[in-house]
Parts: sequence; structure tokens; C-alpha cells
Amino acid sequence: MGSVALDDIDAPAGRVQGVLGGAACYFSVAASYFGAVRAVAVVGSDFPREHLEFLSSRGIDTAGIYRAEGDTFRWGGRYHASLNDRDTLFTELGVFEGFDPVLPDAYRNSEFVFLANIHPSLQLRVLEQARAPRFTAMDTMDFWIERTRDELEETLARVDGLVINDQEARQLTAEQNLVRAAAVIRDLGPRIVIIKRGEHGALLFDEAGVFAAPAFPLLEVQDPTGAGDSFAGGFMGALAREGRLDSENLRRAVIYGSVMASFCVERFSLGRFRALSGAEIEGRLAQFRSLTRF
Ligand code: AMP
Repeated sequence: MGSVALDDIDAPAGRVQGVLGGAACYFSVAASYFGAVRAVAVVGSDFPREHLEFLSSRGIDTAGIYRAEGDTFRWGGRYHASLNDRDTLFTELGVFEGFDPVLPDAYRNSEFVFLANIHPSLQLRVLEQARAPRFTAMDTMDFWIERTRDELEETLARVDGLVINDQEARQLTAEQNLVRAAAVIRDLGPRIVIIKRGEHGALLFDEAGVFAAPAFPLLEVQDPTGAGDSFAGGFMGALAREGRLDSENLRRAVIYGSVMASFCVERFSLGRFRALSGAEIEGRLAQFRSLTRF
């Protein structure tokens, strides 16, 4: 569950307009390499059919992607030269404004539920309709931390995990130190906290302590958009595939998340996933292993 969007991206490597984006898209496509995915979102009357066909071609169930009269969610972002910082140029909620997500019946027994970035009340509404999920996690963004704090805390209190980037973790907790920020977040509800640090990798905090994963050092990064959602897709997909929630498996899933994020940023929009094989994923996982073994 999350945004399905048409994005305008301005990055040092180039500019694109109206391309496929949205947290739910990146998440679903990344997760689709690991198992069956059921997507929940809404698109407007302007949303190109070929985008839905692309999601279906990845085996993603799109029965929960509703089409409504009006405009698809649109977002524009501009990256700084370092690619670690970006400015949001606009956020137009469009059909998400009046959306009341109803899960298709076939979705309700889903065991792994991810609430990707969107209004926290919509996230909660979806969570409430899942019958008996084994593991639930969510993401959020500065936009919602600033505007919908109370709803966000209500949703946070109900999930097992939060996947969030470093700046947002600081904004959410008013703590600069990420170890402290993770502790504050765990007090708000989630027992597992993952803080993504862009090209500096990711930190996993759980009962076993802290685990640090590097980001894969890439020669060329075109577009960091969706890296966080692709990370979450790889993470949740790998967890669901193994079916175990112990620390060892959580750590392996974090590396799979990092692998999927590293592919995402190599091309604009979801371009890299249009020609990505399972063998490439396993190949990069092996490279990740040798990256920090000594
Ligand atoms: P990330 O780069 O992982 O932060 O994800 C960027 C994606 O999130 C883009 O494709 C946007 O369409 C989408 N997005 C941007 N702002 C929001 C928002 N406020 N709520 C939901 N999705 C958003």
C-alpha cells in the first residue's frame, strides 16, 4: 500500500517528466523478485495503462489498484550535485485526497504487510483490514511528519517495523544521534527500526542490537528516487520468502534491500527493473559479501 505516481525528476544526470514512480510501485516491483505481491493504491483517469501492464508483467496483483476520476498523484524532486540531498518541488495528492482503500477479499490473508509512504490514516486503514499479518512495517516522509503527526504516531504504534531515512528519523524524534533516534522510535511502537543513510548504507536496530549494511559502491548513479522503497521491497520480499523473523534473517533481508536499492538508482524511474534478472540480484549479493569480509 502506498503512492503510485507520475514523477518529474531533475538530477545531474538529466531530467524526466511524468515518469512512473510512487512508493508502492518501487516497493512492489522490487518485492516481486522474491514472491507474490498484492498492491493497493489509487490512480487517476490520466494514468497510462501501460504502467499497470508493466506491474502485471512482474506478477504483481493489481486488483487493489483502483482507478478514480481525477489526477494521479504527482511529485517533483530536484537533486543536488551530491545526490544525497533533494528538494521536493511539488506534491499533488490528486485522487489520493478522497481515497478510502478497501482491500480486495483475496488480499486480507496477507502475512507480510508493508505500508509504503502515503497519508498515515490510509496506511492504518489498510492495516486494519489485514486479518492476521505475521509482520507489518511502514515508511513515511517529511511531508507526513510535518502535516499529520498525530495520525502518524497512531499508525506507528501498530506496526512491527519502521523503515525510514536518516533525515526523517531525526525530524521524527528531534534527535540528531541516530542510535538515540532509533531508541525513541522503538519506544513509539516498532520493535524493528531500519534507518537508511543513502550512499552510506543502512542501520538495523532490533533486540539483537545494531547491524550496519554498506551501500553498494556504484560507478554511476542516475536517479536516487525510489531507492528507499526498493530497499523496503527487497527487505520485505526476502523476509517473506524465508518466512523467519529472527535476527539472522532480518540482517540478510537488509542486505537484499540494499541490493535492490543499488539497482534502482542506476537508471531513472523504474528503468533498471525492466531488465533485471534474478541472477544479477544473487550476483550482487555475493559482491556485497566480499565488500566487508575481512
Ligand atoms: P524515495 O526516493 O524512496 O523517498 O521515494 C520517492 C517516491 O515517493 C517518488 O516516486 C514519489 O512519487 C513518492 N512520494 C513523494 N512524496 C510523497 C508523499 N508525500 N507521499 C507518498 N509518496 C510520495
